[in-house]
Amino acid sequence: MSSAIIARFDRIGDCMRGACAVQDGALRSVMQFSADEDFAKHLDVQDPFRSFREQFHLPLGKNGKPLIYFAGNSLGLMPKSAKQIVEQELHDWAMLGVNAHLDAKTPWYSYHETVRDSSARLVGAKPNEVICMNSLTVNLHLMMATFYHPTKSRFKILMEDPAFPSDTYAIKTQIVHHGLNPKDSLLLASPRQGEFIVQTDAILDLIERHRDELAVVLIGGVNFFTGQLFDIPTITAAAQKHGITVGVDLAHTIGNVRLSLHDWNVDFAVWCSYKYLNAGPGAVAGAFVHERHASNTELPRLAGWFGNDPNTRFRMHLEPEFIPVPSADGWQVSNPPILAMAPLRASLAIFDEAGGMEPLREKSIRLTSYLQFLLESERDKRSKQRYTVITPREMNERGCQLSIQAHEYPQELFNKLEAFGVICDFREPNVIRVAPTPLYNTFHEVWRFAKILTQ
Ligand SMILES: *Cc1c(COP(=O)(O)O)cnc(C)c1O
Repeated sequence: MSSAIIARFDRIGDCMRGACAVQDGALRSVMQFSADEDFAKHLDVQDPFRSFREQFHLPLGKNGKPLIYFAGNSLGLMPKSAKQIVEQELHDWAMLGVNAHLDAKTPWYSYHETVRDSSARLVGAKPNEVICMNSLTVNLHLMMATFYHPTKSRFKILMEDPAFPSDTYAIKTQIVHHGLNPKDSLLLASPRQGEFIVQTDAILDLIERHRDELAVVLIGGVNFFTGQLFDIPTITAAAQKHGITVGVDLAHTIGNVRLSLHDWNVDFAVWCSYKYLNAGPGAVAGAFVHERHASNTELPRLAGWFGNDPNTRFRMHLEPEFIPVPSADGWQVSNPPILAMAPLRASLAIFDEAGGMEPLREKSIRLTSYLQFLLESERDKRSKQRYTVITPREMNERGCQLSIQAHEYPQELFNKLEAFGVICDFREPNVIRVAPTPLYNTFHEVWRFAKILTQ
């Protein structure tokens, strides 16, 4: 490995700190990698987050060594601190019974408030715009109950294609719920023939063509299949110009890329917490309602007692009128599931300790760019292409995931990866999704993965 390469690479750190201002093309021209194993190890030594890996349980292979875990886009790894936090709640339940609502170490009554600020930072929101509750799909339905009110002329919903199945089910049933037909009411922004990426222009064009009929644009921040990161501010502005409401599904976006939902003026967003947020299976999800809506207690909603003003919440039989909290809390339906919310506290504390998404995204860009470099440099050596990365090449058009389309024997290739100790996932018919994450993956793991894939 030449020292010149290292020296150039070190300077990228400075360059990337101002990443917003730096054009992507300029960045890539500075980023220089080497395929040497020593270079990967050097990147790990330089990695400011290398100690964070210690904070997670790493699944082990038969040889007792950690597997290469690239499935954080499906289920993030368990923070070691999660166990103690959950045990504390079990302990408080055992010792205090119902009194734990107010007397637990972390009182259950206001438990959702303990995850509010950190969650707001991750999505670029004000604390009063965020509520952690339920699961993603449930939150999507709750948001649609508030924001989708089709009229004779304005009734269409625009989504990207392919959208995650649960979102499609939710949206189609929302349409049917209003007595409409998805055939006329659901618009899909699809990739061009033979392509995988949905061009922003195609989305903007659809918005323009249906500007008087669209009620809602619902876009995945990062597409689950291709890993494409959509240009949320541009799409939001284009839709809102015509009075169209914009919602974003952040399942693959939160904890993955930087977000500024408040400044982008997004109307609503929903996310789950078990993917890049590492909050555990079925962890409590979240929702964002922009301040200008969140403070509007007149907005229709599907309400429950925990969305009610806490001062009158327990006077239900005396004051049966629903008085929503004038913040995103006003959409909370039930009392928080404490045992499912406890690991979220452990997880968010790690993101806070890391300094939030800005520095993490910086590492993430290096990690995924390095993977891309290794895959491409190997592929270039072969006359026949065995696979294609279908994720956008531009780093600000993707998160940490690369989706690799295998042209020959995809299932066999996936099985081989598994046999060599890689955990990633396979989407029919032939796409392998790999998501190296900045909190617990290393550059050397990326190097080993590329070696296994290209062998
Ligand atoms: C993972 C994921 C979901 C999951 O929904 P749940 O309600 O949490 O089970 C929904 N939408 C998208 C885009 C996802 O990636």
